Amino acid sequence: MPEGKLLHSVRVNKDKCIGCGKCMRACPTKAIRVRPQKASINYERCIDCGECLRGCPNDAIEPIITSSADINKFKYQVAIPSPVIYSQFGPQTMPNEILSALKEIGFDYVYDEALICEMQSMVIEEYLDKNKSPRPIISSTCPVVARLIQRLFPCLCELIIPIEPPREIAAKILRKEISEEQNIPEEEIGIIEITPCAAKMVSINQPETMEKSHLDGAIPIKDIYNKVMMILKKEKQTLMLQEQGPISGIGIGWAISGGEIRGLKYHQSASVSGVYDTIKILEEVESGKLKDIEYLECLSCPDGCIGGPLTVESRFIAKSNIIKLSRIYGNKKRVDSNRVKRLYKEDFFSFESEVKPKPFKPLDKDRSQAIKKMNLKQELFEKLPKRDCGICGAPDCATFAEDVAQGKAKLEDCIFIKK
Ligand code: SF4
Ligand code: SF4
Repeated sequence: MPEGKLLHSVRVNKDKCIGCGKCMRACPTKAIRVRPQKASINYERCIDCGECLRGCPNDAIEPIITSSADINKFKYQVAIPSPVIYSQFGPQTMPNEILSALKEIGFDYVYDEALICEMQSMVIEEYLDKNKSPRPIISSTCPVVARLIQRLFPCLCELIIPIEPPREIAAKILRKEISEEQNIPEEEIGIIEITPCAAKMVSINQPETMEKSHLDGAIPIKDIYNKVMMILKKEKQTLMLQEQGPISGIGIGWAISGGEIRGLKYHQSASVSGVYDTIKILEEVESGKLKDIEYLECLSCPDGCIGGPLTVESRFIAKSNIIKLSRIYGNKKRVDSNRVKRLYKEDFFSFESEVKPKPFKPLDKDRSQAIKKMNLKQELFEKLPKRDCGICGAPDCATFAEDVAQGKAKLEDCIFIKK
């Protein structure tokens, strides 16, 4: 990945921002300030979790996603829907109908990502069988968790499983297969993930573990929802009759927290969801408390990917829909395990390069200046009322003291000091 500026997945629409500060309070890394009366993001601290997007009451935080012009430049357009999509159209709508409806809206080819999720469960087991490196091994599926580890827990980077996530593996397989079978040059095939997640564009435009992503973009589930819903309503009977191939119950389960570890034979595994609980469990890993856990699934959205900010359905209903579908399709294996073993031996699933630590910058490049600023921050903090009211435009008094120490705010911005 090229060094330099990190790309990001959200931006503030200043025209819509009413300065309420909800995004600032929701942000786990204290990246947002509301000063003067408009939110702004310090991208140096942003991990693309989408909490601000979820928290803004005025849709003033916007995801940065693939436009239809970006997709239309490709001659052959392929959609890889995240298994979350199956939770969005009510309990009576079956995966085959949704895959067929996606074809109807104009994709040349639609591939069920759930199958690759099942494949990934086998790959994780292969890795755990063959590597006795320090535990717990941490899932690489959630791009936010990878960024969180790089920034806040850099010494845990080596615990991230060096296996690409299902969306990348799916795109890698499809580009080759479609090109060979249909005689289309690989660069004319556009592969797009239909996603619940704001951070996917970042992981595609700036992949951490490879030179170039196998995907060409990501579009939000909520952006295609109405089109798919219209087709489902109009053509339900026809769609039900279209066969789209085997559906994987194990893979569909990946849409919710715990789904990734459900299919593993390693029972000493754990799952956690939500960015704040993920931070808590990573603190425990860092302190060496969880060495008996073999595999740790961390997903930054609440309840897993179904809680992603780019979805339509409430995550509680979505979860119930996924559980129902997982039961219907069961634990029957749909993927050829011999093929997975062969590809594993060929290193097909592995990262090209490891995840590198990218800790937050210190208060100053110069060490002695940084220590001075730290001391000043502490002095200023002692003077503040510690009410964490947010009126100064910072999420809490400690962050405000840091802003003042860095010359980014004035002490008088605190109304209690001003009085
Ligand atoms: S939540 Fe943030 S971006 Fe949204 S209106 Fe309030 S201050 Fe502005
Ligand atoms: S995406 Fe997450 S880390 Fe970035 S500004 Fe929003 S809440 Fe903060």
